[in-house]
Amino acid sequence: MITIPGSLQTVGDTEYFLAQERLTRRPGERYLGVRGPDRDFTDLHNSTEGVRYYALSEANAAGMRQRLGWLNPASLGAGLSFGFGDRLGLATPGHIQALRSVLGRQESAFKPVFAQQSVRENARTERTPQQVLDDAMWGAFQEGWGQPWGADADHLKEVSSFSAFVRAGYSFFTVDPGDYVDAGADIESLSQLKVKAAALPWDILHSNPDENRAAYVGQSLNLDGMPLEVDEAAYLRAAAKYGQAIAHVAKMYWALLECKPDGFDFEVSVDETETPTSILEHFYIASELKRLGVRWTSLAPRFPGRFEKGVDFIGDLVQLEREIAWHAAVVRFFGNYKLSLHSGSDKFSVYPLLARHAERNVHIKTAGTSYLEALRVIAGLDPALFRQILELARQRYPIDRQSYHVSADEGQIPLAADLADEALSGLLEDFHAREALHVTYGSALAQFKPLIIKILEAHPQRYMETLRSHFERHLAPFIKQAGA
Ligand SMILES: [Zn+2]
Repeated sequence: MITIPGSLQTVGDTEYFLAQERLTRRPGERYLGVRGPDRDFTDLHNSTEGVRYYALSEANAAGMRQRLGWLNPASLGAGLSFGFGDRLGLATPGHIQALRSVLGRQESAFKPVFAQQSVRENARTERTPQQVLDDAMWGAFQEGWGQPWGADADHLKEVSSFSAFVRAGYSFFTVDPGDYVDAGADIESLSQLKVKAAALPWDILHSNPDENRAAYVGQSLNLDGMPLEVDEAAYLRAAAKYGQAIAHVAKMYWALLECKPDGFDFEVSVDETETPTSILEHFYIASELKRLGVRWTSLAPRFPGRFEKGVDFIGDLVQLEREIAWHAAVVRFFGNYKLSLHSGSDKFSVYPLLARHAERNVHIKTAGTSYLEALRVIAGLDPALFRQILELARQRYPIDRQSYHVSADEGQIPLAADLADEALSGLLEDFHAREALHVTYGSALAQFKPLIIKILEAHPQRYMETLRSHFERHLAPFIKQAGA
């Protein structure tokens, strides 16, 4: 067994640390090492030279959380934060190294969310909310993180999804009312909009059509020097498009308050809807939620342009910057939440814009990009396995892409057979191969997960280094801006 440096923690007379097995069927597999009088763990693996080694089981994870308070996810509140989704459960140490490398001693300048998975991702990776949280926790323990970190139950659509995440100890809840957003309102006539606005669930919204209309129509808002006039049509469009969604968010918030009274971060995300969220619509959502007593930490509008998975922004950057400046002004008007960027992986041209206009009122979510970096490691260490994963991606892409916003064309993915082993990792820079590999993770893991995990466990340093340099590029633009 090799003790992992940096993992050692002492509580009372007992030392706790992570260790790696050298000579087993799974080289690099990690265990919890315990030296001292504390014997209250289960799943003993072996015991040698006064140290007992235990499996990283659910019970032992819960035991460590009782002993070290910082291993429990915490609500992070205001200020720059970053979500590191991890579909394999081995990426947190690399994420922490990237944070440390960019932040130096100012580790707290960026608040991390180490566990972040949606119900959809959990279904595709066949992991439970508890497993996702425990994996991130062991990663934080391994690195001796010692500071607050969050766990995000992402894209929850119904109240019934809460309980498994609340039970597991999640601290951040992202509610997605996208199914209740009425994109048709964007193009409907005034009379159609009036009918829709009248039919909103006003009992849940604690208002009525006349009162609500009077609160907005005719207002001249001053958003940090940017004037915004609210006319009848714009108001009705906002109400018809988002009214049902606002009611749904309020219902979910009230339900969550009941099952988790001890505080949490709450995000409202409408990013996965058909049409962009206008500035007035953002204002309307925020104003209505505030009136209803909802307290949210971040809000993810649907920005204009295309935010596809694992690739940079596609669209008009000048227009996007103008919109981000306005959205940031709405945030400052209400003054107490962050703009959240979903599908935030690899959006290198967007980070400087967010940093410039929203400064520290930003939350970024990434997920699949850590999986892609794992594939980069596989391409270097096991070209034959990578070729199989790529071939599977080519076959599965037309089916697996359906629930994602992606535009890659499987016909344009280079043929692995034409490439030398050394050239394979270059496919992670190819737009078509990258998106196809990104959205087919569920299919790839169903077939190859044990092989992928085995390689990453056996070469932890290489995976960490790869993640570190990748995430430095995600984090640095925000730190430069803050002058930290
Ligand atoms: Zn999203």
